Amino acid sequence: MSFQNNRFSEKELEKIKNCLREQSVRCGRQFLNFKQSLATHQEHKEHRSEDLGGCTDSGAAAFNQHVEVGISKVYSDLVYQIDRALVAIDARTYGICENCELPIGDRRLKAIPWATKCIDCETGRTPQLRN
Ligand SMILES: [Zn+2]
Repeated sequence: MSFQNNRFSEKELEKIKNCLREQSVRCGRQFLNFKQSLATHQEHKEHRSEDLGGCTDSGAAAFNQHVEVGISKVYSDLVYQIDRALVAIDARTYGICENCELPIGDRRLKAIPWATKCIDCETGRTPQLRN
């Protein structure tokens, strides 16, 4: 399928690349902020649980760990997807679904520039990430 190779100009691809790199950096930063706020939250909880007789201590810690693991998976998946999109740009396959090889819709690419699958293939598997 080579009919899509000229879908984006060099200039457009360069712009998308920059946008994706920015997104990747922003994503990493957000994750750090999140981890920090979780740590702060945990400290507050520990203080509060003293007042409550310390009954929720281990439960809260387990919950926070659970949340942290879940969120880090979301972030690492996102960073991974952004990387794949960057690779696709270099391989000139950006905008083509890596699963069914059909073009990914313009609206979808605008909303999710790191999409490497079309909406049909994506929704069959994982839910979309929202900002
Ligand atoms: Zn597809």
